[in-house]
Amino acid sequence: MSTIFKKIIDKKIDADIVYENDNILAFKDVNPISPIHILIIPKKEIPTLNDIAVSDKELLGEMFIIAQKIAKKLNINKNGYRVVFNCNKDGGQTVHHIHMHLLGGRSFSWPPG
Ligand code: 5GP
Repeated sequence: MSTIFKKIIDKKIDADIVYENDNILAFKDVNPISPIHILIIPKKEIPTLNDIAVSDKELLGEMFIIAQKIAKKLNINKNGYRVVFNCNKDGGQTVHHIHMHLLGGRSFSWPPG
């Protein structure tokens, strides 16, 4: 089933895009929980972390490389940042298209709530 993120990938709805290549899109979260809150998503529709395949490992690795680049560009790499993938109900996933939250600009507690 298509999600709101697929509509963003297809440019049917607007998003504040910070990075794009053939495989990956990154854009600002519409409801940020920190001064920097970027969503990094594969253009391939994968609903949850349960659905990733071995053949997706390069794609998943690329998401981390892009997170690293964005963190450097936004100057949060030295102070640090958090990346989060939520999975299904208990993980707090609301959009069923896998996405990495890149969170920065403030400190985060551990363990999370
Ligand atoms: P999840 O809870 O699934 O891990 O995260 C989904 C995230 O997508 C939420 O942080 C939410 O604010 C964000 N989000 C939902 N709909 C939209 C949208 O239409 N545009 C943007 N930019 N972010 C969205």
